[in-house]
Amino acid sequence: KREGRGCFRIFSDELDARIQARRALETDLRCALAAGDQLKIDYQPLLSARDDRVMALEALVRWDHPRLGRLTPADFLDVAEESGLIVPLGEWVLERACATMAKWPDVSLAVNISPGQLSSDALVERVLKILDRTGFDPTRLQLEVTEHAILDMEGAVETLKELRATGIKLVLDDFGTGYSSLSHLQKIEIDKVKIDRSFVAEMSLLGGSSAIVQAVATLGSSLGISVTAEGVETEEQRAFLRALGCEELQGYLLSRPMNENETGTYMERSTAA
Ligand code: C2E
Ligand code: CA
Ligand code: CA
Ligand code: CA
Repeated sequence: KREGRGCFRIFSDELDARIQARRALETDLRCALAAGDQLKIDYQPLLSARDDRVMALEALVRWDHPRLGRLTPADFLDVAEESGLIVPLGEWVLERACATMAKWPDVSLAVNISPGQLSSDALVERVLKILDRTGFDPTRLQLEVTEHAILDMEGAVETLKELRATGIKLVLDDFGTGYSSLSHLQKIEIDKVKIDRSFVAEMSLLGGSSAIVQAVATLGSSLGISVTAEGVETEEQRAFLRALGCEELQGYLLSRPMNENETGTYMERSTAA
């Protein structure tokens, strides 16, 4: 019994510590958003499966925390989402990426939109304002949303339709990991689906014959939806995905996410080639 109580104490102390750490992170994120120089964007290219041309760059947020060092989205997106800070954070990413992309006018920009952003007030107006301020062409912007976000949010479908009506492209991210995927493809007009990297990884184990990847590729071509695969790490995966008719590929094999300077060098090299 004594031991039990002891355990509970430890557990509760740990819980306290975790809650405090989250609170501290929230405060720090608020500061980071105000200061502006701790947040960074890495870019990861999406290449045409046919000829390796760079079609788009996906913006991926990073945080150089003054004490904790470099943080990835997994370290702070939950806190951002729960605190509502995801809204200003998302606006920062969009504005910064749109402004930066002026350097690379021939490719599209893909930006992730979380459930909290999708359900936030006046998302469409705020996105349009940013496009206006940065002079970014809406048809060059791809917003990546997960099935999960669409499923959870009342009104998400309407918001997505409004965004698409402005010329913005919609991408269903992490495709295959949610439910009732098919019904979503019908409810909202989607421009592209991105096959989740778990299915791409599975392909290697199964010697290329992933029923899911095959089904998505077939579905995509019959509905006129472009199919992208993420998490491509091996030549073998690349060959299979190409054979299945995926139009775009993304993953460490092709390029890791790069900081702004590296992206500049990469883009120069890829257009020179
Ligand atoms: P995601 O949209 O599925 O992005 C792909 C993630 O996989 C990125 O992780 C990327 O670095 C990683 N990745 C890319 N290629 C490979 C590969 O070949 N192998 C493996 N194992 N991983 C690969 P990252 O940057 O840590 O981002 C994680 C998630 O955080 C993203 O998943 C996205 O959902 C979210 N996220 C990132 N930036 C933003 C943002 O600005 N706003 C919002 N709302 N979410 C973001
Ligand atoms: Ca994404
Ligand atoms: Ca994804
Ligand atoms: Ca993913």
